[in-house]
Amino acid sequence: MVMKKPAKPKRTAPRTSRPLPDDACPACGTLMTETRGRRSLPVNGEQVSVPSVKYLRCPKCDEIMLRFQDARRLHEDAIAIYRKQHGLLSADEIRAIRERFSLKQADLAQLLHLGGNTVSRWESGRNVQTASMDILLRLIRDLPGSIDYLRKHAA
Ligand SMILES: [Zn+2]
Repeated sequence: MVMKKPAKPKRTAPRTSRPLPDDACPACGTLMTETRGRRSLPVNGEQVSVPSVKYLRCPKCDEIMLRFQDARRLHEDAIAIYRKQHGLLSADEIRAIRERFSLKQADLAQLLHLGGNTVSRWESGRNVQTASMDILLRLIRDLPGSIDYLRKHAA
């Protein structure tokens, strides 16, 4: 872990307190230590437990902080676990369905009457599809002619 020395305050800066290193505890200023453990995150209002999450913990006051990259990873892992628990299509399965019909992400979004970035968010694991969208995607995959039907009824 990189520990940066606190930068010297600039004389001209109107700042009254000493700047803290990146890994300093926001509550007490102690340098936090990197650790791994189980954390939970709400997905669709449901707490999803994610194993082996990387985070920073303050040895003095127990404050916990996630770096931006680790917070994003936790969010994506929670969504993948949620999909598995609810029997929803995974990000890769959604991509495979779309590619089978040679559709761009925006094309599939349009056929499903969704916002332009929705399919992109499903496939990158940033958002989870609803149960009703999940069954529609399965229809597209399993029912011949369903793409043609959706094209006829495209917005
Ligand atoms: Zn602290």
